[in-house]
Amino acid sequence: MGALVLHVEDELDIVAAVEYGLRRAGFDTCFATSGADALTMLEGGVAPDVVLLDVMLPDLSGIEVCRRLRADSAWRDVPIVMLTARTEENDRVAGFEAGADDYVVKPFSVRELICRVRAHARRAGKEPAA
Ligand code: CA
Repeated sequence: MGALVLHVEDELDIVAAVEYGLRRAGFDTCFATSGADALTMLEGGVAPDVVLLDVMLPDLSGIEVCRRLRADSAWRDVPIVMLTARTEENDRVAGFEAGADDYVVKPFSVRELICRVRAHARRAGKEPAA
């Protein structure tokens, strides 16, 4: 059984680059372009093993989405990596306070992001397909 990564991001060129890299690394992927869409997908039964969550989304902020996931017993423990364009300490602190496990600052290296995803997936007992 592979590992599924949900990427929540409204910038489709970033979604495409990350999805390409994750699939090459053996992960299954799905994405949502808004926080509301992501929550709808999760309520609909999509069950990611790792969540990549952009802070700047068109509706709910990634930090709010993170907070809601952590408040839901189904998603309390899913690894969450925040993606942020900002480098302010406030954003990183807010992400961690909302329950994020990790963050990367844009523009990020897709290779590095995938290494982080792999590490979080492994810790959660999930490995990508060979
Ligand atoms: Ca964004």
